[in-house]
Amino acid sequence: MTEALHQRSIGSIFRVLAFPVLIALLDGAIRLRTMRMFSGFEWTCYGISVVLMMSIWFLLIRVLPKFHKRKGKLVYRATVALISFTIVALLSMGWGMYIANGDLPDLFILSFIRCETENAIIMFRDSVGVWHAVVLIVGTAILCFWINLECKKQSTMWQPQKTSLWATALLGSGALWFSWTFTAGQGQCFVPVVRIPMIVGMYLQNEIKGINPKPIYLPPRDPITITTEIPRPAINVLLILNESLRRNRLSLYGHSRNTTPFMNEWAAKYPDRFFSFERAYSNSTTTLLSVPSILTGIAPVQPVSERIKAPLLWQWAKAAKMQSFYFTSHHLDWLGLGDFITTPAPDASWDMRHENLPSYRDMGCDDHYTVERAISHIESLKNAEKPFLGVVHLNTNHYPYNTEPLYQQWSGSDVDLYDNTILETDTHTRRLIETLERTGQLERTVILFASDHGEAFHEHGYTAHFYCHFAETITVPLCVWLPQRFAAQRDLSHLKDNRKINIQNLDILPTILDCVGAWENEPLAEHRAAMMGSSLFREIDPKRNILITNTDEVMPSIIGLSSVTGDFHYMLRTSGSSPVEDLYHITNDPQERNNLWPDISDTEKHSYRSKFLPYPVSASMMKKAFPHLSAASNAQPR
Ligand SMILES: [Zn+2]
Repeated sequence: MTEALHQRSIGSIFRVLAFPVLIALLDGAIRLRTMRMFSGFEWTCYGISVVLMMSIWFLLIRVLPKFHKRKGKLVYRATVALISFTIVALLSMGWGMYIANGDLPDLFILSFIRCETENAIIMFRDSVGVWHAVVLIVGTAILCFWINLECKKQSTMWQPQKTSLWATALLGSGALWFSWTFTAGQGQCFVPVVRIPMIVGMYLQNEIKGINPKPIYLPPRDPITITTEIPRPAINVLLILNESLRRNRLSLYGHSRNTTPFMNEWAAKYPDRFFSFERAYSNSTTTLLSVPSILTGIAPVQPVSERIKAPLLWQWAKAAKMQSFYFTSHHLDWLGLGDFITTPAPDASWDMRHENLPSYRDMGCDDHYTVERAISHIESLKNAEKPFLGVVHLNTNHYPYNTEPLYQQWSGSDVDLYDNTILETDTHTRRLIETLERTGQLERTVILFASDHGEAFHEHGYTAHFYCHFAETITVPLCVWLPQRFAAQRDLSHLKDNRKINIQNLDILPTILDCVGAWENEPLAEHRAAMMGSSLFREIDPKRNILITNTDEVMPSIIGLSSVTGDFHYMLRTSGSSPVEDLYHITNDPQERNNLWPDISDTEKHSYRSKFLPYPVSASMMKKAFPHLSAASNAQPR
């Protein structure tokens, strides 16, 4: 090799490496915050991923000119365009998702697309704007030009030995083998352009093995009929059920921003009849488990067969000769939720399908429609002989947190937009309460205000609600307002005490049944026994176990399990490569920063794990994480 040729070949090697190096530098700049926390092994994985990217790029540049020679210009150009588009799409998708959520795409995204295709399309549509198309087109054009330039120069300047091609192929295969074998759970340490094809490969591999989750659909209900006659109560009950509403973002619960001006006023106006519970917890952070459990009183940890047969709120209303209604902003075609909630159907119901309304905020509709229809219905019940038991199920606080300009008080990050949605929720609540007042029904209506779960904003690296059980996703508001005459006739001492202790969404149905006189009814003891919740009007053990799960026989999830007992919040997290456990002191450490788990004794650890053993699905999750775990003698089924 002559000196000049030698220099030229070194120069072209540097040029070939320019693209992968540029991508690695850009990746480093975008993900600097995460990369600062990388361990040695994570840096090794990252390095391997860069080697893999370099090998692929080098082979591409070597093979494409041959394509030009053998297949002609048109095929060559189409191939270059397709490759450029794919690379730019993978990079923009990976980095875009990291910028939005703090994570690169993983296997869960593919499972989500498969299990909730309609939802995925809506989220994609809501997230993609004109700028994304511009980036994609301009990026593809630049990359086409770059690849073409490289290929041309390669064919005229440098004809390396076949051995260098083989060496690159060998190096690339080695990097690929290492990635497939040793990097499970290290997905976030990869350059997106390498990571995304790898997870697609893993997904296809799982598909062949048959271990990918199957599409989710709630099984058909087989409801028990309540045969016992319940005397007709003299009051109405209205449950305002919110979506993804997290407790500490309400000014009613001390948030520094005035997100709930109406609720603050409402609470101040009726200090003896408005009860806000300070330690309410959700029993699941997915709507699909949380809402059916609220409407049946059967916990997400209990077998799905019990939830299928348990009477719904409407059946209780019928037995008490009340008229029921359910007005919802949620899309009832979602994973069988609608069939579940309407078997049997309430006396009156409304959802977006009745008027073919467009989707707004995920799959739901604009709450203004729902509240309008609910208001008309409540007005129509003004002189009705039968009292009502109704649910207004809103969706205002769901991702992507869009609101009308009227509510746009705060701007910036997602959590600012989320606060705007709470301000909107407050208006919906005010309108419903004012309707009851205007039509003379307020002083005969018990009102409950609740939420199916909370919402996370990167407090522990997670967003939305499904992906973790940290405090931000399980703490919910729960308020009860009582009419004057009703309050005067009742012993409210326990209700007052319970404001300070741990309560759960599973207490909502028993509380409603207690209000309408059905909770203490002896022939109904069998139904009562099936429920894990308790009426908020009764004495509740402050140290009872509140169990939280996103997994049952229908709903797969890798999130893990959680419990709240007394002052402690326990979590088993199984989404990583090995199980992780956390324990936080609820009052001393509400932000959940100081994990006490390493400091407690093995006996205590065993008792936290054992709480889940009486429930088959949770028990199998616990035993999968700890194969030697045996049932503790002190495990209580409640
Ligand atoms: Zn929800």
